[in-house]
Amino acid sequence: MIELTREFVKSLPKAELHCHLDGSMRVETIVDIAKKENVKLPTDDIDELRKILEVGMECKSLEEYLRPFDITAAVLQSEESLRRATYELAEDAAEENVRYIEIRFAPLWHIRKGLKMTEIIDAVLKGAHEAERDFDIKIGIIICGIRHTSPEDTMKVAELAVAYKNKGVVGFDLAGAERDFPAKDHKEAFYLIINNNINTTAHAGEAYGPESIEQAIHFISANRIGHGTRLREDGDLLNYVNDHRIPLEMCITSNIQTKAAKHVEDHPIKFYFDLGLRVTLNTDNRLISKVNLTDEYMLAIEKLGFTADEIKYLILNGFKSAFLPLKEKVKLIKRINAEMEQKGLFIRKDYI
Ligand SMILES: [Zn+2]
Repeated sequence: MIELTREFVKSLPKAELHCHLDGSMRVETIVDIAKKENVKLPTDDIDELRKILEVGMECKSLEEYLRPFDITAAVLQSEESLRRATYELAEDAAEENVRYIEIRFAPLWHIRKGLKMTEIIDAVLKGAHEAERDFDIKIGIIICGIRHTSPEDTMKVAELAVAYKNKGVVGFDLAGAERDFPAKDHKEAFYLIINNNINTTAHAGEAYGPESIEQAIHFISANRIGHGTRLREDGDLLNYVNDHRIPLEMCITSNIQTKAAKHVEDHPIKFYFDLGLRVTLNTDNRLISKVNLTDEYMLAIEKLGFTADEIKYLILNGFKSAFLPLKEKVKLIKRINAEMEQKGLFIRKDYI
C-alpha cells in the first residue's frame, strides 16, 4: 500500500500544461525588478505585497482574480525581466519534479514600454532555454491571445505564433474574461492558427457555461480546454469531449478562487476522471493562487479522494496531453513510466 505523503507526491515526475508566466512570479523578484526599473508598486514590503497579490479563497470572481495581474504586468516590460521570470518559474517547477511544463503568456501585456512583440518572445525563449540547460525540465511556450482585446490584436499575436512555430512555441491560447467576449469573435485569428496546424487551447467553461466550451471546440478547433470546469452542465458535450479524448487543463485552487466551483469538495475533476475524461492537473497561477503543483495533487488526494492508483493516471494524462511531437512524447512517457514503476506505480498497458 503506497502512502501518498506530500514528500512522495513531490518526488513523482509531473507535467504541467496550464501555467501563466505573469501569475507565477516570485514576490521577491517583483520587488527587485521594480527597484531596478523604477516601477512604483503599492508597497515595497515583500509580505505586504504578497498579501495583495495572493487573492485567497475569499476571492469573489474571475474579474477580482485578474486584478493583481496589473501589478505583475508592470514589472514585466523589459527583456531581462521576462527572461528572469521564465527562468525562475521553470526552476520552481523543476524543484518539485515537474519534468515538462508549458508556460503561457500574452505578448500584448508586455508592450507598454516599447518592447517589440518579437523581443518579448525571444526573451521568454531565452529564459526557457537557460532553464532547460540548468534543470531537468523540458519547456514549451504557449502564446495567448486575449478575449477582451480586439480581434485585430489577436490576429497580430496569432501571426507571431505562426512565425515561432517549431522555434519553442508549441501552441496558441485564448485567455481573459469569458463573459461578453466569446471565442468566435476571434475566428479569423484562429483560422490562421488552424491553417498552420498549430496546437490550440482555450480558456473555457470557467466563468461561463458549457457554451464557451462548445465554441472553443467547434469554432476555434481547440485541441485542449483550459479548465472546462462547467462541462458537467452539458452531458452530451461531456461525452463528446470524452470520446474525442480532448484534455481538460484543470486547476482546482484557481477554480475555487474564481468561483467556477464553490468548494474543493464540489470540484468536478474526480467526477470527470471517474467517467474516463482525459483530465490533467495544473496550477494556473502559482503566485496569485498561492499553489504549486504538489499542493494541487495533495488537494486532489486529501479532499477529493484520488488514490495512488488514480494519481499515476492523472500524472500520465498530463504527459499524454503535452503539445509535443508524438515521437518525443513517447520517449518522455517511457521515461516517466519507468520512474513511476520504481516507486511502485505500474501503468496498465490498455490505458488510453
Ligand atoms: Zn489560465
